[in-house]
Amino acid sequence: MRYVIIGNSAAGLGAAEAIREIDPSSPLTIIADEPEAAYSRALISYELAGWLPSGAKLDLRTPDFYREKGIQALLGRRAQRIDTSAREVVLEGGDRIPYDRLLLAVGGSPQTLGVPGEDQAGIFGFRTARDLAAIHEAVQTAREAVVLGGGCIGLQAASGLHHHGVRTTIAIASGHLLSQVADPECGDLFRERFERNGIPVLTGAVPEEFTGTDRVAGVRFADGRALPAQIVITGKGVAPNIGLAQGTKIRVDWGIVVDDRLRTDEPDVFAAGDAAATWDRVACRSTVNAVWPGAYEQGRAAGCNMAGRDRRYDGSMRLNAAEFFGLPFISLGIVKPKGEGFESHSRLSGDKNRYWKLVFQENRLVGAVLAGKVDGAGVLGNLMRKRADVSSIKDDLLAGRYGFARLLPLIQAQAEAFPEAEYGEIIFTAETQRAQR
Ligand SMILES: Cc1cc2nc3c(=O)[nH]c(=O)nc-3n(C[C@H](O)[C@H](O)[C@H](O)COP(=O)(O)OP(=O)(O)OC[C@H]3O[C@@H](n4cnc5c(N)ncnc54)[C@H](O)[C@@H]3O)c2cc1C
Repeated sequence: MRYVIIGNSAAGLGAAEAIREIDPSSPLTIIADEPEAAYSRALISYELAGWLPSGAKLDLRTPDFYREKGIQALLGRRAQRIDTSAREVVLEGGDRIPYDRLLLAVGGSPQTLGVPGEDQAGIFGFRTARDLAAIHEAVQTAREAVVLGGGCIGLQAASGLHHHGVRTTIAIASGHLLSQVADPECGDLFRERFERNGIPVLTGAVPEEFTGTDRVAGVRFADGRALPAQIVITGKGVAPNIGLAQGTKIRVDWGIVVDDRLRTDEPDVFAAGDAAATWDRVACRSTVNAVWPGAYEQGRAAGCNMAGRDRRYDGSMRLNAAEFFGLPFISLGIVKPKGEGFESHSRLSGDKNRYWKLVFQENRLVGAVLAGKVDGAGVLGNLMRKRADVSSIKDDLLAGRYGFARLLPLIQAQAEAFPEAEYGEIIFTAETQRAQR
């Protein structure tokens, strides 16, 4: 059996490790167009913001990892296409890598804006170790920066540039920050926090042109406003890398379509991670939930199935978490519901330091946004993942009371939804204590 994995990040690593646990010796090749050993993208923003302890690196695995696991690592090599009839991956330059089982773990890429001048030096995505190195070099001389996009990644990039003393402005087309995952009230909490810390936010700002010749000098917006910038970071969102699947029998919509075993429509070709549309267990549909743990888990499930051990992937849920200038934020599940049948409750504290929102669908909790104070997010996430009937504790949830003591009767009554050891142990402990009283 020859295994080939395209992608050397969360999903690719998960798959390689699962394959090696089951099949320690068959040929296994990882191909990636980035030259580095596997590293954490999530740490890119921490590194730019100076939050990593000195000497800490982004690395997740050392170069020795591949040798120790008997993995042929073709790093810095780009897959150009896959030839599913010959069962080969064709690399740029023409080399062909044969496979019996193939995984597409190719992730996503920052969306381009289609604005004139976008190819100039000084305009960066915020996704790769290479972007990070280039931004580090650019902050040595840049005075001003513009970050286009007010999602978590854009805000992280802005905080990082600010940390390096670059005068940074966030420019967003919408009316408030975090507009994909939060309501205006919540977005404005963060706007106030950023502006108080010296990072202005421009709303309704649609970029029309990047000025400069060869090297970016500024951004001009559709309404005539303009900002000088020697650095521009485009944080407008990420699109799954579906190119390798196109022109094959593999079905693609927003991401590469897979079943609950991470199989594509093409025999022996699997897909996982940010490139794949997988089951969302809260929204109950296939979608791309681009989070690291989900990508790793999908990779593991795909790796098991590739190595012949049947493993179902139960799905993930939408999740965004970050902290900006001491203000933490988490959004889980469906937070901007569309259509009938949803019930949303939100509240902003009087001092405007805390916001929360809960979204219900029938008897289930399907979404939550917490800002300022995020305790209990794990409990809320669990109720969503388990699709628990929360009608008996809805008032407690609305009052912000979701400690385990309140949940215990619900967990006991819906034991089939909470089969894991942790719940068994909680129930056992509580009942023992009750018996001893
Ligand atoms: C700045 C930032 C912060 C983030 N913070 C968090 C966070 O706090 N928490 C969280 O859960 N998630 C976070 N994420 C998201 C998380 O990093 C991704 O969900 C995760 O990396 C997805 O893993 P993946 O393996 O699917 O794809 P990717 O990490 O995108 O990796 C894709 C791999 O495929 C390779 N590749 C692509 N195309 C080709 C090709 N044609 N030929 C060869 N190789 C190819 C690439 O070289 C790479 O190795 C963050 C992402 C970014 C960018």
